[in-house]
Amino acid sequence: MTHHRIGVMGGSFDPIHNGHLVAASEVAHRFDLDRVLFSPTGLAWRKTAEHAASAELRYLMTVVATAADARFDVTRVDIDRQGPTYTVDTLRDLQAQFVQEHPDDTASWFFITGADALADIVAWRDPDQILAHAHLIGVTRPGHELADPGLPAGAATLVEVPALAISSTDIRARVGRGEPIRYLVPAGVQHLIAKHGLYAAPQP
Ligand code: NAP
Repeated sequence: MTHHRIGVMGGSFDPIHNGHLVAASEVAHRFDLDRVLFSPTGLAWRKTAEHAASAELRYLMTVVATAADARFDVTRVDIDRQGPTYTVDTLRDLQAQFVQEHPDDTASWFFITGADALADIVAWRDPDQILAHAHLIGVTRPGHELADPGLPAGAATLVEVPALAISSTDIRARVGRGEPIRYLVPAGVQHLIAKHGLYAAPQP
């Protein structure tokens, strides 16, 4: 029997950028994770937060960005499930897959995402179930003020990652203004953005 330590990196990845990759790498190191599964969201759970790029292109960019790191993988569970993405479903689907693939093994689960996103977790679907299934890790840039998500002691850890000064919002805006994004995203992601004309219209 083997015990696995698995991180699930949830995000829109619209687009994925080097800050996300540094954050996943840093969390993998600090929490001694065997692997990190990047899970691009399907439909945004709130209509106001519609994605600029399609789910398939966000998935493709995530695959290209993570290809060179043996610890990283990408899952389609949120892309393939109908309806809005709820983290409780993400964890349930991935844990069911794990049991099928490794019936004799056990695992500790870590759900990693932006600390800002975690701040309103009490309003997410089934927060108690999420906490029962995974330790939460909120990644943030240093010095960023955080709202207290009101979680039980020990349920979540915040990790500061300087590279998270990079943001998807800023990258979309830069593309819209015709400014360079080289070195902010992996080269393959930059090529996909150009090839598909993503974010070219001025961003709000
Ligand atoms: P978001 O509101 O678009 O992002 C909020 C902030 O967090 C942004 O600054 C964003 O920066 C950052 N962020 C998001 N994911 C990140 C990551 N993996 N690493 C570092 N920073 C990250 O959040 P979202 O992307 O829609 O959702 C994040 C995750 O939370 C997803 O897995 C989503 O399914 C889950 N979620 C679940 C529920 C629910 O179950 N009801 C509700 C909300 C969110 P960037 O734009 O640069 O990434």
